[in-house]
Amino acid sequence: MNSGLINQEFIQHANALIEAGKFFHDRGWVPATSGNLSAALHDGLAITVSGRHKGRLTREDIMLTDVTGRSMDGKKCSAETLLHVYIYKNYRENRSVLHTHSPSATAISLLSGTEVALEGYELLKALSGIDTHATRVVIPVIANDQDIVRLAQSVDARLDKDSRGFLIKGHGLYTWGKTVEDAVRHVEALEAMFEIQLRLMALKRP
Ligand SMILES: [Zn+2]
Repeated sequence: MNSGLINQEFIQHANALIEAGKFFHDRGWVPATSGNLSAALHDGLAITVSGRHKGRLTREDIMLTDVTGRSMDGKKCSAETLLHVYIYKNYRENRSVLHTHSPSATAISLLSGTEVALEGYELLKALSGIDTHATRVVIPVIANDQDIVRLAQSVDARLDKDSRGFLIKGHGLYTWGKTVEDAVRHVEALEAMFEIQLRLMALKRP
């Protein structure tokens, strides 16, 4: 990286993403180099380099892009960077977007139709701004697409200002927060509720 591009803001956010990667890897949520993790900087993004193992990230595995997702340091970002850019552009209060490929998120996306509704869980209070279990949070399930521009258009058609995240069918979860720490907590809470929901689905199966 051009040393002029490294500043305290980048280092601080890169360190938070490295920690998040380890945490997700330890729980099996980012298998085989999958997923991508980003944080917004005042004039760009810090985001994981394409194809890096999220449990073994170092500062070299976090790259700098401009606000449109264009590499500023010669490193190669994932095609899915466009989805991060989309979230930052349309939901400006969010400063971190995290994407996992966990078995539970993948399974529930395949077993559900067009959405997963989470309702009545105390754990919903781990999502920013929610202070009661008497809440219904809908996570849209969107068909997977290798054309990321088209996928971003499908996401755009399903999200609104109250959205907490979305699932891509057979693929994984995207969620976000005002800080990396908030976004990590959102991943953890959603993963736990997906796991509970899957157990309930298995118990209710005739
Ligand atoms: Zn992915």
